[in-house]
Amino acid sequence: MIYIGCHLSVTNGYLAMGETMSRFGGNTFAWFTRNPRGGKTRPVVPEDAEALRRHLEKNAFGPLVAHGSYTMNLCSAKEETRANAMDMLRQDLQRMELLPGNLYNFHPGSHTGLGSEAGIEWIAKALNELLTPKLHTTVLLETMAGKGSEIGGTFEELREIIDRVICRDHLGICFDTCHTWDAGYDLVKDFDGVLQHFDDVIGLHRLKAVHFNDSKNDCGSHKDRHEKLGRGFLGMEAMKRIALHPALQGLPFILETPNEEEGYIKEIETVQNWMNH
Ligand code: FE
Ligand code: FE
Ligand code: ZN
Repeated sequence: MIYIGCHLSVTNGYLAMGETMSRFGGNTFAWFTRNPRGGKTRPVVPEDAEALRRHLEKNAFGPLVAHGSYTMNLCSAKEETRANAMDMLRQDLQRMELLPGNLYNFHPGSHTGLGSEAGIEWIAKALNELLTPKLHTTVLLETMAGKGSEIGGTFEELREIIDRVICRDHLGICFDTCHTWDAGYDLVKDFDGVLQHFDDVIGLHRLKAVHFNDSKNDCGSHKDRHEKLGRGFLGMEAMKRIALHPALQGLPFILETPNEEEGYIKEIETVQNWMNH
């Protein structure tokens, strides 16, 4: 089995997210650790985190997948942006310690003209500064669509980052199905081949979470526009094959599809049905 859930708003606190996901029928979820664009944070109430922990345990949730801010760019050409990103990441990882044993995913960044090689160096430098053996969170690099100067549009680039990080035990990958497809990996015709390639380059043991999205664009478009399950270029058959793939069992799958509450409930049900038949 896989764990299934979607992105939720943290507006009403941590426990509220757990209760919402139980009502949706899922058993994992994601949330932005801060406003995805603005970078502002709300204070974390330890009692609220503790209440969520009890809810997760009681309801047999899988690992949660917190998402770092889109504005957090560890490899920007601008020093101020990089310093800002370091502050955000440091603070986010501190806050995650209230929910030990979960996952924190972020976009590696955009090198904004520095070149991939320099960008990779900056990202690794930041991770080497902030990842310590004492951490109770696994930090995930997200596979990207490769739009603009984005780092992480190829498995090789992600491997390059991992190779440079000393505290690698705390490092993994979040596989976004829309992004990898847009980046040019053919998940429809050859998902086995893509996973084999992932295993060769990065190692499947690093794969800790899936962002489960269809795509509005064709393979290799480098666009990054998510679509509802079965409505996009990946299609329902491929989505089902991915969810049921033996190599991915036990992982949390997070829907980042363009849906409101009702749509998410339906998609979660669809995935649950695949697993039960
Ligand atoms: Fe993301
Ligand atoms: Fe994603
Ligand atoms: Zn995306």
